[in-house]
Formats: sequence, C-alpha cells, structure tokens
Amino acid sequence: MTEDGDSRALPASARAVIIGGGVAGCSIAYHLTKLGWSDVVLLERAQLTAGTTWHAAGLLTTLRDTETQTRLAAYTQQLYRRLEAETGQATGLIECGSIQLALTAAKAQEMRRGFRAAQSWGIECEEISAAAVQRLWPLAYVGDVQAAFHFPHDGRVNPTDVTRALARGARAAGVRIFEKCPVTAIERAGGQVTAVVSERGRIATGIVVNCAGMWAREVGALAGVDVPLQAAEHYYLITEPVAGVHPRLPILRDPGRRTYIREEAGKLMVGIFEDVARPWSVDRIPTDFAFGEIPPDWERMQPYLERAIERVPVLAQTGVKLLFCGPESFTADHNYLMGEAANLKGFFIAAGFNSLGILSGGGVGRVMAHWIVHGHAPMDVWSVNVRRTHAWQNNPRYLADRVVESLGIGYQDHWPFRQWQSARGVKKSALHERVAAAGACFGESAGWERPNWYARPGQAPRYEYSWGRQNWFENCAAEHRAVREAVGLFEQSSFAKILVQGRDVERALNRIATADCAVPVGKILYTQFLNERGGIEADLSITRLADEKFLIVTAAFTATHVIAWLADHIERDCHCTVTDVSDGWCMLNVQGPRSRELLARVASGDWSNAAFPFGTAREVRIGYQTALALRLTYVGELGFELYVPVPFAPGVYDSLVEAGKPLGLRHCGYHALNSLRIEKAYRDWSHDIGPDDTPLEAGLAFTCAWNKPGGFIGREALLEARSAARRRRLVQFLLEDPEPMLYHSEPILLNGAAVGLITSGMFAHTLGAAAGLGYVRHEQGVTDELVATGRFEILIGNQRVAARASLRPLYDPHGARIRS
Ligand SMILES: Cc1cc2nc3c(=O)[nH]c(=O)nc-3n(C[C@H](O)[C@H](O)[C@H](O)COP(=O)(O)OP(=O)(O)OC[C@H]3O[C@@H](n4cnc5c(N)ncnc54)[C@H](O)[C@@H]3O)c2cc1C
Repeated sequence: MTEDGDSRALPASARAVIIGGGVAGCSIAYHLTKLGWSDVVLLERAQLTAGTTWHAAGLLTTLRDTETQTRLAAYTQQLYRRLEAETGQATGLIECGSIQLALTAAKAQEMRRGFRAAQSWGIECEEISAAAVQRLWPLAYVGDVQAAFHFPHDGRVNPTDVTRALARGARAAGVRIFEKCPVTAIERAGGQVTAVVSERGRIATGIVVNCAGMWAREVGALAGVDVPLQAAEHYYLITEPVAGVHPRLPILRDPGRRTYIREEAGKLMVGIFEDVARPWSVDRIPTDFAFGEIPPDWERMQPYLERAIERVPVLAQTGVKLLFCGPESFTADHNYLMGEAANLKGFFIAAGFNSLGILSGGGVGRVMAHWIVHGHAPMDVWSVNVRRTHAWQNNPRYLADRVVESLGIGYQDHWPFRQWQSARGVKKSALHERVAAAGACFGESAGWERPNWYARPGQAPRYEYSWGRQNWFENCAAEHRAVREAVGLFEQSSFAKILVQGRDVERALNRIATADCAVPVGKILYTQFLNERGGIEADLSITRLADEKFLIVTAAFTATHVIAWLADHIERDCHCTVTDVSDGWCMLNVQGPRSRELLARVASGDWSNAAFPFGTAREVRIGYQTALALRLTYVGELGFELYVPVPFAPGVYDSLVEAGKPLGLRHCGYHALNSLRIEKAYRDWSHDIGPDDTPLEAGLAFTCAWNKPGGFIGREALLEARSAARRRRLVQFLLEDPEPMLYHSEPILLNGAAVGLITSGMFAHTLGAAAGLGYVRHEQGVTDELVATGRFEILIGNQRVAARASLRPLYDPHGARIRS
C-alpha cells in the first residue's frame, strides 16, 4: 500500500504500460481506449502532472513551424473543446484567440508565408492592421507593428485540468492508473520489450510507452534506448491585477521581443523565450523532483521584461506576483521525439515537447495510439519521428549546449537556410580542412559539417540571411553553372553507406525494395522502400558489389530509419546482415559534362560511355589509391560518385583538384546540389516524398518491378491505386517572374483555387527563375492535359506569381545529358 492508501496490486500483465502521468501519458492512455484497448496501465512516479505539466502556461496556438506540429495542435484544440462535456472534468478552455506580431518587414514576410500555409491546412486566420490589434488589445503599444495575424480559435487551458480530464476519460474506459509508482527497470528479450518493473511490482507487457518527460532519457536508458533530450529552465511571470484585463483578451505573441502576454485571473502573464537559455540538471534529473520549481534568475530575465514593458507599458506600474522558473525538455532540432525505438520492438517514446506539450498533447495521444495499435502513424510524422535522431546525439554535453539555442528558436526569425550556431563540429569528414581552405561555408546535417556553398577569395564564408537573394546567391549560381557546363566537385562524405550481405541478401532486398535486385554485379538500382500502404519510407541507391553483397547509399539524416527499416523487414529466415559503414568512407561526387574527361585523366580504366554506362559501378585506381566509382547523378548530368576509404580520401581529392584545374573544376556545395536537382525535378525524401506519398503520385512508378517473383512490400496497395484516377500528383513549377523566391509550403493555385503546397523550392539558375515541386490535388484527376492547360500560380505571402507547370522535368526532360 502507498502512503496515500492505494492498496491495489499491480496487474501481472497488461497489453500496454505507459510510464509517466503528464499530459502526454494521459492523452495516449485516453486515445488507446478510443481504439478499443482498455487493458492499459499507466505508472506515475509521483502524482499526475507532477513533472512539467502542472506549471505550463497552457497556451493553445495552432500555427507551428511545421505542418505536422500544426496538425497535432489543430486536433488538440478540437479535442479540448469537447473533453469537458465528455468527461465531466473542466479543462479551463478559453477560446480567446491569439495575435502574432511582426516588427520587421522580414518577419512580416515569414509570418505571411506561414499563415498562407496554415490557411491551406484549414486553420482560420487573417492578417489584421495595427489599429485592429489596438482594438483587440487596448493596453498594447502598436507603433512598431509591421504586420499582425489573428487566429480567432486559439486559446488556453488549465494544463492540470486537461490532464485530469484525459485521465478520467481513460479510467472510465478501463485504464488503470497507479501513482507513487516509479519504474525502476525495463526487461527485454530478443530485441523486444517484455516487462516493466516498478517499486510496486512487475508487469509483463509487449508495449511500453516512455512518456517520462525530462526523465525520458533516463527511462530510455533502462531499456538501452537513446532518447536525446535535455531539460532547460523556462520562465514566465504573473503580475498583480491589472485594470482592463479580461479573460477574452487574445494571447499576444511578440516574437521580436521573445515574449508572449496573456490574461491570468485578472492579472497578466508574461512568458519568455530567451535567445540563450540555460540547461538544467544535465547529469541527472532528480528522482524526487515533483511539483518542483527552480529558483529564478531575475537578472537574466530583466532585459526581456523591459522589452515586454515596451509592448504593454502598464506593466511598468504593475507589481510582480510571481516570477516562475520550471524545467521543460528540449531537443536538438526543436521537434518532438515520437514513435517506436529503432532498436527495441514495442518500446515507444512520446517526449521532448519543447514547451509545446499542452497545445499538441491531444494530437500526440491520437497519433501515438494509432501508431501503437496499427503499427504506423495516421499521418506523415517524420519531422517528429524519434528515428530521425542518431545514437551519438544522446550525449549530455551536446544536448546541454544545443538546448541553449533550441529553447528560443521558435520566437526567432526562421530564415530560409538558417543554420544552428550551437553544438557544431560534431562530425567532420577527412576532407574537412581541405574544403574549408577552398572557401566552404558549412551547414549541419545529422551532426555533419557539410559545405553548403563556397566563398570567393576575400569573401567571408558566412550567411547573411534574408527572404530574397542571400549573399551566397551568385556563388551558388557559379557552382550551378560549372556543373551544367564543365565539372563540379561535391564533398558528400556525410552520406550513409550501408552494407547488406549474406546468402539470402538478394531475396531479402527484393522483398523490401521496389526495384528488381536480381541484377549482375556492378549494377546500380535507384529504388524506394515502401510501407504496406504504398507510401515511400526510403529513397536510395543500391549497388550490387558481389553475389552476396549490396551497398545501400542514403542521406545521412535517414540512416537510423533506413537501418531500422531493414532490420524490421528482413525476413527472419533470411541469412542477411546489415552493417553501417558510413564513417569508413568518404564520398566525392564529380558531376558535369567534363567529369569523364577529368576522371580519365586521373583514374585507371576505360571511362567511355560504352565501357562505363550509366547505372553501373566499378572499382578504380586514382593515383596510389583505390575507390568505388558509381555512374550516377542527382543533378541531371554525366557524373560519377566516388566512394573512397577514409585513408585514401585526401590523395584522391588532391588528384582530382589538381587535374581539374584546366577543365574548369569548381567546388560545389549543397545549395547548388539542391538548385540543380529541383531544376531536374529529382525528388528529395522528407520534402517531396515520404510515408504518405506513393510512387504513383510522386511520378516514381518507373522504379517498381511489378512482376518480380515474390513482389515487394506495398505492391498490392499500389496495384489497387493504379486502376483509379490519379487525384494527386507531383508537379514541377517554374515561376514566370525571376524575382520571387520559393522555399517550401507556398500554396499552389489552379485557376485561382488552392490545390496543394510547394514541397521544395530553390532558384533554378539554368531555367532562370525559382523552381519548385509540389503535389496538385484535383478530384477529377490530375491529367497531363490539366497540367498543360491549367492556369497555375504560386501564392508567396500576398503575391500571386504565375508559374509554368510540368509533369516532366523542365530541364533535359528526356535525360539525354545523363546518358551522354
Ligand atoms: C514555464 C513553462 C511554461 C509552459 N507553457 C506551455 C504552454 O503554454 N503551452 C504548451 O503547450 N506547453 C507549455 N509548456 C510545456 C509543457 O508543460 C510540456 O511540454 C508538457 O507538460 C510535457 O508533458 P509530458 O507529459 O511530456 O511531461 P511531464 O508532465 O513532465 O510528465 C512526465 C511524467 O513522468 C513521470 N515519470 C518520470 N520518470 C518516471 C518513472 N521512472 N516512473 C514513472 N513515472 C515517471 C514524472 O513524474 C512526470 O509526471 C510549458 C513548460 C514550462 C516549463
């Protein structure tokens, strides 16, 4: 029996055990019951809400940084509206609306782009004048407002009451909740979770959900699972009562001042998202921390409070009742950690909510419950999927240094191409110093420092951000032209390289990949991995190196996911192993019409088209070194990817650079790569294609070997869809005006009506304007004729820009250059 008299014994087994009784855990329990699972146990170390949930400010604002986060928030609002009626527990919901202020032209542009996307996701919002802000918020100073956006359905809740309502709903449907019941161990066998051990006993189960908030990293460690998050201090203050303040006052979000202000029982609450935050309790979160607070640092908050006073001058004459500091968990990229662990079946995670856990709590519960019950999320959640993270990220020092920046990021300018400033230099290729000397301006992906563009002699390799042409525009143009006209050298060592080997490797890969893997040694396959619904889980190249040996190459940020996908889907009776060899190899990508000439000068063998055709690979000697050369392209030109064992890489690089000089060889970065591939309409996984897009919609059905023996995962779903009209298709667009820029999420208009969003965009230097890819939805079918004759425009902020649309790449539509 616990000290509060709970004498119930833990059940010996349960279908699922949830660890943590904050908003996330209770919401998942509630939603599991909606899918018919009632044999569910929730174990809470202290009391419900005792972690972070009890002290949240309870803001419900829908427009978030990504579509996934926005959809989670939108569903959460719908749920909280009906929860009180359903459970009898009040939630404190007040639909007071929210206002977002832009204080600079750049922020206005960013918000306008964001609110256009939000409108297309069904969020009600409008741009309002400074005078309208003044009417809605008479106490606010609006003299500096450049633009403002009103979300009438946003609001706030009492986080404790919401959580209680979710818990009450869950209990009513059979969930058993045990408080004062810390989990101390997690048992596993054969890569599968098997039981949870707590101070009050052991529960056998095949499903564990880690909702332990800032303790989730430690709870993950009990199961050998990485949960890379870190707690940081987070602040708000509450004033004494203020005349004229009332509950319907909209939440005033003022990113320029890093603050939000809302009503709280006749007082004002001022929340702060400081630029440089402070991590809390890096080594270990205290196990006895319940309903806890952190002693606040007034001095550190003072500049932010002064800025809040500029916005609401009455604050200067108002006393402060409470300055509150509480811990919340943050992640390295300001996105949540959700889904099933890559290395332990049945172990799910929902944590790391970056101060957005209340406003997304409903959506998190719905998505997680669906994931647990059906084995996949109900929508594309890649941006929050825990499998986007990497084992090395679970490094307390890295996390502590990074969350300093990620806490405030939501309130800063979300510039295109913005790079993280903190915790950099985690992974550097063996060629790092060489490309740095060549002028590389580095960006980060999956911890790797990668050249994004190259500065001219005398130019600093530093970003100057804007929504227009940034300072590296001409650098990128020159790199782009070099690839189209001469030869470019891309340092792409960050790519993940995975060896798949064994007696049954061909059979194993044939089931997982869309392409027919029964190919001769030396053949390269461009292919996808699909889920059972036909959605694209991975987009990669596979090269047959030997009868029983294939090399998979994929983008670094997808490595955990691809490896886990292989592990999950290689049939148990297959003799087949998967080995990540990424860090043992550099990759130098030589692309452009003179690439053959360059390689023929430095490397062994016959590089003619006949001897070394497109889509084949072979071992070559360059100088004293050996490399694996793949004739392949992601830019639409003749080109070769060179996979070089790390010790050989400097030698190969030096040979290429030296021999390339008279041929016009230029170092090229990832921005040029992106510009080139969008111009050629090559798809990028996680932007243009993902788990909700099929190869039929994405124009990639050519990769499917429909009739190979045994088929492939997803084939049946595709066959069914193949006979129906194509209502959604990926289309390439080219703006008719060369000035505006495309990035992503700009609405696509067909004859004036919104039909989709741009999934990725970039200035296309050969075509002479910004180009983008995006899905067009049309109920009668997206036919060739519709695309050819429809009047397409792209909505960029408030500007409609006419665009040419095409189902075939606008650059080199027949691929003649690739095969030249
Ligand atoms: C100052 C502040 C203001 C905020 N304002 C907002 C806001 O306005 N809107 C918004 O959306 N979000 C806000 N947040 C963020 C929000 O509070 C969190 O994102 C959310 O509460 C996280 O919920 P959770 O369920 O993941 O974690 P928690 O609420 O921390 O729940 C985790 C639970 O796990 C339990 N636990 C830990 N270890 C074990 C174990 N071994 N065994 C059993 N149980 C265990 C803990 O006791 C705890 O109760 C704010 C946060 C702060 C700090």
